[in-house]
Amino acid sequence: MLQDELLTWFRKEQRDLPWRRTYDPYQVWISEIMLQQTQVTTVLPYFERFIAALPTVKALAEVHEDKLLKLWEGLGYYSRARNLQKAARLVVEKHGGVFPQEYEAILALPGIGRYTAGAISSIVFEQNKPIVDGNVIRVLSRLDDFHEDVRKNVPYFWKRAEELLPHGSARNFNQAMMELGALVCTPKSPKCSACPLKASCKALAAGNVELLPNKGPAQAKVKIQVAIAILEKDGKIFIQKRHQKGLMAGLWEFPGGKVEAGESIEEALSREVLEETGLRMKNLCFFMNLQHAYTRYLVDLHCFLAEPIGEVGALTAATEFRWVRPEELKTMAFPAANVKILEKYLKGGFY
Ligand code: SF4
Repeated sequence: MLQDELLTWFRKEQRDLPWRRTYDPYQVWISEIMLQQTQVTTVLPYFERFIAALPTVKALAEVHEDKLLKLWEGLGYYSRARNLQKAARLVVEKHGGVFPQEYEAILALPGIGRYTAGAISSIVFEQNKPIVDGNVIRVLSRLDDFHEDVRKNVPYFWKRAEELLPHGSARNFNQAMMELGALVCTPKSPKCSACPLKASCKALAAGNVELLPNKGPAQAKVKIQVAIAILEKDGKIFIQKRHQKGLMAGLWEFPGGKVEAGESIEEALSREVLEETGLRMKNLCFFMNLQHAYTRYLVDLHCFLAEPIGEVGALTAATEFRWVRPEELKTMAFPAANVKILEKYLKGGFY
């Protein structure tokens, strides 16, 4: 049986991961949220740091947002961290700080969809709930030699995951499917000769492995030019905190924005800084350029050093601002592109 082969393989080959040592609900939950869109090797140091700093649901519920975002800095998709805290507060308020066991109660928590609820229910509480993520879709599409656009056929994969789930072994079976996708049935160059499912794999038999999964036409990223300024005054730097909603909510950043059609980069920067902070600038000096990819955008980022003229007025892109000494910046959370700029700024002998 396919299930037996997979379970035997998992018992032998599974990686020793910290959340697998106890199957503690809090730790599995944090790991599952971190692993969304992110690989295990990237997650591991973040996970260890996060659990050391916030070892319980209560600690997560009570931590200051700045500290939470700093722990998440670099992992991206910051709404995940904010939803974790919202969910932790609900667990404290509604469930006395004990992570709920009922599937519906887990699914009702912020930031938890069908995949994560299924993962926690099966991995922690050993309930017979299937899971479907990118790894599982890749494995199943190859096992079934499924050639249609997988993004348009997600219900098919939920149905197949449900059919294949061996009741009583959901914890290991679900993890085994993901582990197989991560270690053996990889997107490129899958190791079919070492695969425990090779006898059942229809794509392997048909010679179609490299064609699957069919993810439909690739979506091109939109290219945009962005200009930002490091404003320096009396040994301090201006930073502002992004609004609580939207992309990278609650993170600190340098002022600036998108270069509009017909504008030079410097014109765009002057306009954006004035609009966002009420400040004009002098002694504008190019500092660095970098490319950064977001989910939908490819950003060409131009960073300048400048001195402010006047006082900060009404903020339009932020909830608060601060003038901070460079050493303080290390304790605050910034978007990834700002982090790269800060590294160069702090290393470059500017301070
Ligand atoms: S035989 Fe190859 S394609 Fe099929 S499930 Fe195994 S690794 Fe994936």
